[in-house]
Amino acid sequence: MDKRFECIVVGTGGFGSSCLYHLATRGVKVLGLDRFPAGHDQGSSHGDTRIIRQAYFEHPDYVPLLRRAYHQWRELEAWSGRELMKICGLFLAGPPEGEAVSGTRLAAKAHDLEVHDVSSADLARGGERRFPGFRMPDGFDVVVEPAGGYLQVEDCVRTHIELACKAGAEHQSGATIIGWESDGRTVRVKTESDEYEAASLILTPGAWANHLLNDIPGMPTLRVLRKTMHWHQVRSSVYDVENAGQGFLFEMPYGAFYGFPSLDASTLKLAEHSGGEVVTDPLQVDRSLRTSDTKPISRFLNEVMPDVDPQTDRHSVCMYTVTPDGHFIVDRHPEYDNVFFGAGFSGHGFKFTSVLGEALAALAIDGSTELPIDFLGLSRFQS
Ligand SMILES: Cc1cc2nc3c(=O)[nH]c(=O)nc-3n(C[C@H](O)[C@H](O)[C@H](O)COP(=O)(O)OP(=O)(O)OC[C@H]3O[C@@H](n4cnc5c(N)ncnc54)[C@H](O)[C@@H]3O)c2cc1C
Repeated sequence: MDKRFECIVVGTGGFGSSCLYHLATRGVKVLGLDRFPAGHDQGSSHGDTRIIRQAYFEHPDYVPLLRRAYHQWRELEAWSGRELMKICGLFLAGPPEGEAVSGTRLAAKAHDLEVHDVSSADLARGGERRFPGFRMPDGFDVVVEPAGGYLQVEDCVRTHIELACKAGAEHQSGATIIGWESDGRTVRVKTESDEYEAASLILTPGAWANHLLNDIPGMPTLRVLRKTMHWHQVRSSVYDVENAGQGFLFEMPYGAFYGFPSLDASTLKLAEHSGGEVVTDPLQVDRSLRTSDTKPISRFLNEVMPDVDPQTDRHSVCMYTVTPDGHFIVDRHPEYDNVFFGAGFSGHGFKFTSVLGEALAALAIDGSTELPIDFLGLSRFQS
């Protein structure tokens, strides 16, 4: 195998697979390297589904990127002939002054997005019937986003890699990167058994960011958190995606919980967005199910979703990689013009992989991107 490339992508999970696709489809001779196979369950991009939505409560600046992300997901579906994104609607429920409800309203207003407001007074007057299978807590408002839905996470990663390889990319799994260096013109990437050269490098190492990116000047330490996803049996057809079941997020006093409609008419997946234990070595994360994982989920189900069995049927462990401000870091290396990185996707990044892969590829090829990613730059941590 030729060991010299125009670009190397290290870590081909959610973000790296998209970088590989955008580089290859723009004609770049590119190599993608990963320790694990495409669509694996050892990092942050597994567990069947990821929420996608546009009225972004985390910050309205993400909305233009999301518009492009939706476009890119549809394009990937068209190129691959696979359904990857399902728009089934999504609602966010919480106190009116809480981040989820107030932030969604703010983003929708700022960017003229369609959302439907349901106040606690509307719910008390019988509006709760619009959400069969949910018992709305007193005083909660609900914001419904019809453009919300979910992505089939492993299929998205595999599709990016497959189409990248069809366009000429090389992809190697079973390759553990032990180091890289750059002289500003050429990068050298070392795996346990090989060494490769390229004109540019993109690093997207997910939960391993502290290991591969900690030498970058100004890079904050990222918090890696252990997160569990839970599948539960449903006792009613009201949650079925084929029966108008929607995605949901609840901002409860004891944590934020989100979930998906039932895709198979017998189980649905849900998880707690808040909390999580700090992980020091992502390869050693505890993948067993603990009582401390199930307790808050059962409490939420008992209080809010009476037609779902509170007992976890199956589970999976995943990791968030969180920045100090909860926003992503996508930038060029401050010392090397030919090294770029994306990290700290803080538990809400997957929906952006289609567009931020495009942005990182443009940085590596053109030296700049027209996509509005400046607010994700590293320099914000210096002020
Ligand atoms: C439980 C859970 C639920 C989530 N829900 C949502 C959601 O609903 N919506 C949403 O938008 N986002 C969500 N997210 C966040 C989203 O999934 C992540 O932000 C995204 O998947 C991160 O992608 P990544 O490419 O950074 O990491 P990964 O996909 O984990 O990719 C990193 C890759 O780098 C490789 N790697 C690292 N170091 C090395 C090395 N030294 N050598 C070789 N390979 C290496 C790893 O093997 C891995 O394949 C959720 C995350 C979790 C954990």
